[in-house]
Amino acid sequence: MNFKSNRCRVCRINRGNRFCLRLGKDICWQDCNLLRVDLKCPEICAYSLKKELTAKEEINFRFKAKTDSGREYRDLLQREMDRWLLQPQPALNNRIPLELAENAAGKEQIARLFNEFKIPDYIPLIYLKERLKIDKLKVKYQAKTHEEFAEEFLALVVTQEWEKTISLLDKNEKYEKPLFRKNYFKRLQDDRFINKIREYSLISSALDQPVTRSLVHFDINRRYDLTLVLVKNNTDWLVEAKIYGRPELYRGMNEAHQQVAVLLSKNEFGTAFKLLNHYQSIYIDSPDLYYYRGLYYTMQKHFRQAVQHFLSAGELDPGFLEARYNYAYMLHVSGEKAAAREAYLELVQPFPSDVRILNNLASLAIEDKNFSEAEELLEKCLRIDPQYQLARDNLVRLENLQNKN
Ligand SMILES: [Zn+2]
Repeated sequence: MNFKSNRCRVCRINRGNRFCLRLGKDICWQDCNLLRVDLKCPEICAYSLKKELTAKEEINFRFKAKTDSGREYRDLLQREMDRWLLQPQPALNNRIPLELAENAAGKEQIARLFNEFKIPDYIPLIYLKERLKIDKLKVKYQAKTHEEFAEEFLALVVTQEWEKTISLLDKNEKYEKPLFRKNYFKRLQDDRFINKIREYSLISSALDQPVTRSLVHFDINRRYDLTLVLVKNNTDWLVEAKIYGRPELYRGMNEAHQQVAVLLSKNEFGTAFKLLNHYQSIYIDSPDLYYYRGLYYTMQKHFRQAVQHFLSAGELDPGFLEARYNYAYMLHVSGEKAAAREAYLELVQPFPSDVRILNNLASLAIEDKNFSEAEELLEKCLRIDPQYQLARDNLVRLENLQNKN
């Protein structure tokens, strides 16, 4: 077997995801930064650096550089600072900053130099401050980035603090509902991949323009790909979905949904099932795929399984009416009347004009001999849609029952 490792050929630890023209091998971004910071990379390499020269150039840590993440760019600036520290600096009477910082007066001199000039916000002066232990160096507060939110989430995944992950999820208010909360934990429990995550390291990240969504790509356990999809929420970022694979897969998600939908509509159940298994191992948090799996089980008359998958679809997207309706309806046809009633009732307020919900609630009320409740529901139903046959039939059934009593 020809097993080609995807590790960096220099450190053999990180993912090697770019070909280095200087070394003639695949390396990681960390090692690329260590190399290219000397500005000696061949210009033909997309990752070679160009120093942007401006007025106070000796303390202006700025590059025109291709980087695959904000983390990589910051690391690059830090490597530049490492170099700066070891060279005589005209702005410091040609002293070497690292030596100068050995005593209080020298630290003061360095602090003064930086405090006097307006250093752009994205320059990580905190690194210099901590490395040289210069308390007086003024450092601007830097907002947490989408990459840092993603890492915060993964840190909780590693320690399996599932409860705490909830506040980092998009639309997390939905988990005030115990049923959804329980289902979220169940999905995690059943997920063999997520339970094995012990280590993660950032490979790249990409932002939508305008900035509303980001994809952050991680190397997991030095072996697997994981992409977190995050959405912007004011100044914070929240996790919308996990994709078990590379970020490019994000673009294929709608296509995957369509393929499965088409197969189901053609009653090609065998292929649909195989495809569902495949796509659900990648798009682990797709409400659509859970919904289609629910439909698949419905068509196979496996109503109990259908219930579970419609529930997951609704948990992932509480605004997904068809998933939530089908969840209630599958409970109804499985004979779980109390649970079905509860599930329908929860849909009345968000979807007040859905006649199916009102009519099915009326059916349950008739079966429970709550005739006045049933009548009220059916009247409401027929006010919305006077031609709705199922409600009209139910009304006749109700009148017959009432006449009997
Ligand atoms: Zn490396």
